[in-house]
Amino acid sequence: MADYLADVGHRSVVPDVKPGDVRATIPAAPPQSAEPYDEVFASFERDIMPGMTHWNHPGWFGYFPANHSPPSILAEMLVTAMGAQCMSWQTSPAATEVEQAVMDWLRQMIGLSDEFVGVIQDTASSGCLVALITARDRQCGTEPGVPGNLVVYCSEEAHSSVDKAVSLSGIRRLHKVEADESFALRPALLRAQIERDIAAGLRPTAVVATVGTTSAGGVDDVAAIAQICIEHGIWLHVDAAYAGSTAILPEMAWIMNGVEHADSFGFNPHKWLLTNFDCSAYYVRDPALLIDTFATTPEYLRTEHDDEVVNYRDWGIPLGRRFRALKLWFVIRCYGVEQLQTMLREHIAHAQWLRAQIEAHPALQVVGPTHFGLVCFRCTAGDDATRELHTALNAYRDQYLTHTVLHDHYVIRASIGQWMTQRHHIEQLAERIALSAAR
Ligand SMILES: *Cc1c(COP(=O)(O)O)cnc(C)c1O
Repeated sequence: MADYLADVGHRSVVPDVKPGDVRATIPAAPPQSAEPYDEVFASFERDIMPGMTHWNHPGWFGYFPANHSPPSILAEMLVTAMGAQCMSWQTSPAATEVEQAVMDWLRQMIGLSDEFVGVIQDTASSGCLVALITARDRQCGTEPGVPGNLVVYCSEEAHSSVDKAVSLSGIRRLHKVEADESFALRPALLRAQIERDIAAGLRPTAVVATVGTTSAGGVDDVAAIAQICIEHGIWLHVDAAYAGSTAILPEMAWIMNGVEHADSFGFNPHKWLLTNFDCSAYYVRDPALLIDTFATTPEYLRTEHDDEVVNYRDWGIPLGRRFRALKLWFVIRCYGVEQLQTMLREHIAHAQWLRAQIEAHPALQVVGPTHFGLVCFRCTAGDDATRELHTALNAYRDQYLTHTVLHDHYVIRASIGQWMTQRHHIEQLAERIALSAAR
């Protein structure tokens, strides 16, 4: 592991394999007798490693970061060595109490009001599902089944996990609201849609606002959306999966405007806060509503302290829970808030610098905002030229970028957020962009 981390920057970010290549190295039948560990490990290096994508390569500019760090890796090793099942307080008291403490540390770090209480979910997708199921139950109480007239709202730029959560919650209507030119939901259109729906006999149940959209890094006006939700008694969930970590910077505190009026809020330390996957922070204003929906206590799970403690098994979908909080406890202590802030500031500065280079290039055009670590850009000559540029940039193999479509155009995304990424990696990327775009 130490060798890997020392050397990952010398690998290709993306492996050179075709579908089926790795599978072909694995015998179809399981081994009947034990194999020597050395052989298994040699086979891991020979057969498995060539099929890995290196998300923690300093040239990782794809999707969003899934960054990690030495303290987080060590914490994960300790957790797996103990292998504890932390579903209830009783089943590992330290796991529950560390989770309560670090979720409150994180809450303070991002400037979220102390009216919110936190729990770690596996992913932001699960957090959104938990929010919508809680909202559904608040709306419907003990009515049997899920009425067909419940509606959830989000912008057309919201993450696909909202679509998934709506369908899993049993709610059949998801109304997507148009976004503006900066890829933020248009609150006036949301209000008009909600009023039309109420007049038509539908029941607006939840709105999912996004802070840091996945394609373009857009930021919804949470304060304006919250106002509409309060007027109509609608649950507001704020999805800040990617961008939420930046709220630990005083200069980024604005991204939390209005969140104090939300019902739930989620962000992923497993994206951009040096805590390896999985660790998604979910905050809820009224945990009693959450527990009403998710608590089940069969006799075999009862413990003598149930009345005095938090049992996180009642705060989400799975019963079993890993000790994920230990990663945050290590990371926040080993870096302190200050070093986490320094990393985020550097990444945002890298992105702004890269944006300026691209803006200055006559053949290129930046698309969307750069509030965070994301710069989206295209060739003014058109989509074919942009695709060619994208292919040329990934042909270097020591860097990797992904794409999206914005305003009907193919757009390259440069997403900066891996902890080993330094200014010289960004300078190299900028040079290569300039060189390829000039051809
Ligand atoms: C990454 C992302 C998600 C999904 O995160 P998971 O933790 O992988 O479920 C949801 N919403 C937004 C805005 C994201 O950036």
